Amino acid sequence: MTVKTVLSLCCISLFPLYLEAQEIIINKNTNSAASTESMDRHVSKLMADKVVTKDDIPIQKLIEINEKAALLYRESLLFPADELYDSHWDRKNVNPFKKETIDFPETYDIDCSSFVLPLTGTFKVTSKYGRRGRRMHSGTDLSIPTGDTVRAAFDGRVRIRDFERRGYGNYLVIRHPNGLETVYGHLSKLMVNEDDIVWAGDPIALSGNTGRSTGSHLHFETRFLGLALDPQALFDFENGVPHNDVYVFHSPKGNAEINNMLAAETIAKYSSSNKEEDTPVANAPEPVYHKLRAGDTLGGIAVKYGTTVGKLCKLNGIKQTTILHIGRKIRVNG
Ligand SMILES: [Zn+2]
Repeated sequence: MTVKTVLSLCCISLFPLYLEAQEIIINKNTNSAASTESMDRHVSKLMADKVVTKDDIPIQKLIEINEKAALLYRESLLFPADELYDSHWDRKNVNPFKKETIDFPETYDIDCSSFVLPLTGTFKVTSKYGRRGRRMHSGTDLSIPTGDTVRAAFDGRVRIRDFERRGYGNYLVIRHPNGLETVYGHLSKLMVNEDDIVWAGDPIALSGNTGRSTGSHLHFETRFLGLALDPQALFDFENGVPHNDVYVFHSPKGNAEINNMLAAETIAKYSSSNKEEDTPVANAPEPVYHKLRAGDTLGGIAVKYGTTVGKLCKLNGIKQTTILHIGRKIRVNG
């Protein structure tokens, strides 16, 4: 581990404090909201351990929680979104599930709030994501002269550093703890190595015109479990910000909310190995959702709907440790 990495790791120890504060606030609201309602005794008993106010936590405990969260974040950078990717980490395929059936979560919240524009210089969007005749253009092209600094869009870890003469040219693939992978293509110089941990905004390469490219530009992709999402659907490149702090990914299977382009690409990619998964949606059980209320716990919800915490996590692409906000709908059957 480099000195820089260690220093950077120390710096993020403030981040968990924010996380922790959020959780505490949520729980505090939980308490006051609960007091205004007539509480079901059984339910309140079930949740008693979740109701904590900030004043109840001694400073030493806060420090411990902070350190633990920092440790968890460090781990999330060493093994970014590892559970989501089922530990698939290879150095060859941009889509790590190229030859496999993939089980997309029904919905998944992708936190895009820490997005940093991959370019600092002046650029223009010269080609959008979408079909180009028979070919699929899986990213957004940003025209930029050769030699400009290319930066990491989020914290993460470099999965691929490679060269593809007929395709990406010199390129990088970085996986991020929020579940996204970003791809940077046609680069002239690569400045990070495989397995390096990078921070949002870190210089990772210089722009270029290598591979299948007819002019200097950055080819930028955003992928989720190998599936290319339209970067412009996630980010406003002109203003350098995400359209929304959280982008909600919906499973492509028969979901009307995803656009036809994405559906077509998904079907083309996955139908051959995934026939049974492609059963018409009419045969699938009608989804049932539970809207999170003050004091809800995953355990309590599992009991209520006759399921398990593990199933709930899988259905919703969450972990037992995920902080769930009041009002979020989670799927409880399927
Ligand atoms: Zn491109």
